[in-house]
Parts: sequence; C-alpha cells; structure tokens
Amino acid sequence: TGRLHVVATPIGNLEDLSPRALRTLREADLIAAEDTRHTQALLSAFGVRGTLVSLHDHNEAEQIDGLLAKLRDGAQIALVSDAGTPLVSDPGFRLVRAAREAGIEVSPVPGACAAIAALSVAGLPSDRFAFEGFLPQKGAARRERLQSLAAEARTLVFYESSHRIDECLVDAAAIFGATRRGVVARELTKRFETVLDGPLGALAARVAADADQRRGEFVVIVEGATGDDADASLALGRRVHALLREHLP
Ligand code: SAM
Repeated sequence: TGRLHVVATPIGNLEDLSPRALRTLREADLIAAEDTRHTQALLSAFGVRGTLVSLHDHNEAEQIDGLLAKLRDGAQIALVSDAGTPLVSDPGFRLVRAAREAGIEVSPVPGACAAIAALSVAGLPSDRFAFEGFLPQKGAARRERLQSLAAEARTLVFYESSHRIDECLVDAAAIFGATRRGVVARELTKRFETVLDGPLGALAARVAADADQRRGEFVVIVEGATGDDADASLALGRRVHALLREHLP
C-alpha cells in the first residue's frame, strides 16, 4: 500500500541525514521537494537517483490530487523540505492533511529541526515552550506580535533571517525588557555555528556591533515571562487602560 513518508533532512551538516532517511529517499517512487534543485544537490551528495516533483506553498493545492492518486496506486512518496523537518515553517501540511483524510498512512522519518536543535543548547527552560516561527517582516506588525507575547510564561522560539536579526533583537529587548534572557543560535551544525546568550539588551548590542553575527540563519530563543514580568506588564496594561479611560467619552 502507498505511504507518505515525511523525511527530515539536515539543517547544514550532511552527517545529520539519518540512515533511515537515506534509505527512505533511495526507495521512494517519488520525492516531493520544496525546491527540486536544492534536494537534487542533497541526493547527489549521497548518490541517490530519485524522481523529484516540486511541492511548495504556491502549488501545493494543485499538486495534491496527483500525489494522492499515486499514493492510492501504492506509491511510496517521500516529502522533504529544503532543510530540517517538513511542515515546521515549511510546506507540506495540506498534503499531509489530505493524505490523512484519504486514509493513507503517513509516517515520520524524524531528524534535524533548527528550533529543537537550538532549544537543546540554549540552557533556557524547555519543559514548556512556544514555537512562534517567523515574526512578521514589517516593524509595526512585528512589535505587535512581540507585545502579544510579552506575558507568555513559556520559553519562546523564533526563526529569523539575516535581514532582520538586528531589528528583531532590538524590538525584543524593548518589548520584553533588556534584562530578559535570550539566546541567538546561528548557523547550527555549520562551520560558523555560534550560540550567544545573555540579556536581550546585551544580545541586541552584540549583534548590532558585529556584522559577522548577522550572517547566516538564526533561531532566537527568549526566556518566558516570570511572575515579575507578568506583574509589570499587568501594571502597565492597567496604566494604559486608566489613561485611555480619561480620554474616552
Ligand atoms: N523546517 C526547518 C526546520 O526544521 O528547522 C525550518 C525551515 S525555515 C523556512 C528556515 C529557518 O530555520 C531559517 O530562516 C532559520 O531561522 C532556521 N534555520 C534553519 N537552519 C538553521 C541553522 N542551521 N541554524 C540556525 N537556524 C536555522
């Protein structure tokens, strides 16, 4: 019977491709990839000759029917993204949902995930955490999102690109407070891997001062609000509310 295998690939270091992931890719009738050229390079590095089909956010809906038909015919299809675990800030959820609804088996082949890798070395509480993915790109929307998270007690995990890592840290320090602890995990598993930790204010200053610290791919982790933060933010909320009431009819 057909099966959809959701296969994690490395986030930088090719040695992180698991033996099972390699076998699954080798045995798949079809590999649905976010970017076929990117995945072709991965397959070539391992000497795998696979048949690739592209599946990204913009064609996922159109591709689903064809892929489901093949799965119903008994195909073994592997789903991969450019890096890490598919569906984690990556395409695939529509296909997985459609496959499940069609009664097709969906199996994970787990492996690298930047968020989890970063969390595992951050040294921040990880018993409960909230994965927030990418923040909005525009400043006002980003600050609004951060504001909505200011009282969140769980550790917060964000993905960020080199274009906005500096603004992200400046905003996070302003909104969560400069003394709230954070971790900036850059280029994990790659040559220039760096994990910086400290108060958000210091992290923002450090990254602003060093262009090298703005290159590559980032996971930003922020400690959750403690009771003090929550009290402070509640007090602030009350003050804003009181001020607004004075000015409202
Ligand atoms: N599906 C992937 C995963 O499992 O981590 C994430 C895909 S998302 C489109 C790409 C983002 O993940 C990057 O912008 C960066 O925030 C983060 N990322 C990916 N690889 C990374 C690495 N080696 N080091 C730090 N962050 C990374």
